[in-house]
Amino acid sequence: MNTFSSLGLISPLLQALEALDYTTPTPVQAQAIPVILAGRDLMAAAQTGTGKTAGFALPLLQRLASEGARPASNSARSVVLVPTRELAEQVHKSFTAYGRHLPLRTLAAYGGVSINPQMMALRKGLDILVATPGRLLDLQQKNAVKFDQLQTLVLDEADRMLDLGFSRELNALLALMPARRQTLLFSATFSDAIRALAAAMLNDPLSIDTGPRNTMATGIRQRMFTVDKKRKLELFLHLRKKLDWQQVLVFVKTRNGAEDLVKALLAQGCSADAIHGDKPQPARLRAFERFKAGEAQILVATDVAARGLDVQHLPLVVNFDLPIVAEDYIHRTGRTARAGATGEAVSLVCADEVTQLSAIEALIRMTLPRSEEPGFEASHRVPLTDGQGHVMKKPKKPKKNKLAGASPASRPGRAG
Ligand code: AMP
Repeated sequence: MNTFSSLGLISPLLQALEALDYTTPTPVQAQAIPVILAGRDLMAAAQTGTGKTAGFALPLLQRLASEGARPASNSARSVVLVPTRELAEQVHKSFTAYGRHLPLRTLAAYGGVSINPQMMALRKGLDILVATPGRLLDLQQKNAVKFDQLQTLVLDEADRMLDLGFSRELNALLALMPARRQTLLFSATFSDAIRALAAAMLNDPLSIDTGPRNTMATGIRQRMFTVDKKRKLELFLHLRKKLDWQQVLVFVKTRNGAEDLVKALLAQGCSADAIHGDKPQPARLRAFERFKAGEAQILVATDVAARGLDVQHLPLVVNFDLPIVAEDYIHRTGRTARAGATGEAVSLVCADEVTQLSAIEALIRMTLPRSEEPGFEASHRVPLTDGQGHVMKKPKKPKKNKLAGASPASRPGRAG
């Protein structure tokens, strides 16, 4: 059996791991650590919650501690790019925890907060800079950071970092970085298109897949309730009471949807908070901290909270709306059942969402078990899906002779 010491990690790291109670490397750690220590490029896919962060952070800390010169002023020796500000904080915390016995300087830099303290911290140079792409580019444009000393670039949630939303910023950053560098890509999901794109930025890479592609973490019990759109809130409140839901992370489609749902929940006496892109950064972090501490039982979030965030022992994720992008279903539900725990993912699905449902089922290669809660039967039936991306046609209603017996006033018609 692998141990962290048999993977070749140095004792300051082993000591930190012992204090954190990490006894055995997870599969992605066992495979990634030696490859990264050897200086190779890597594309690693592993299910949500299986320790990817330590998979890249530990060997990166070790390489930085044992190789290369100290960072010059306004230089970063390694950069970890992440899609959201919360994830930047979390990944930075992991680096700090794992590297506490090493003399390395780290920083999390993201937008929505003042840039000045980040510029000050960069003056002394950094070993590890965890950043969102937009802010990193701002810092570079202000000459606060240079990349000539850059040894390693990590893209966490790599498929998100490589998709269109970030491509302009990412391309600008890549053009500024030395071509001779180590590049590491980590994610729970990689589409074929993103794999092809990724391969172009890697040099003789190794690829690790610790499970079948795009699979859900084991330990997540999934189910869905079909319901009419306008009755989702009522059903959510009903299920919460009936099933005694305590801490719940609820995903919705839009920022307004998140605000509206929190208002409705507060009006019902629930303790709820929201996290979405329109909220000021300090309020976003505060909502997340309150939720983690159990001060707010319900956190309503858009997909900014779908990726990477680690809430210990979170029992339940509810998809109040299904995600538009099927991969986000894996990331959202992956906020539960982390680090070997179990958890539940419940989706409330209305007829409008059947195309999304069908795409999700094709991605995860299963049909979600359906239930209908008595008293909440959908009047707009959600068509059946076959688990392979197809929606079954609605059974045709027997044809009635529409005109027979109907008075002109009761006949359906369209204005104009
Ligand atoms: P990650 O997938 O990196 O977000 O990690 C998921 C959770 O697993 C975090 O709470 C980590 O602290 C925890 N974790 C990571 N690696 C290990 C390990 N080898 N042993 C125990 N817990 C771990």
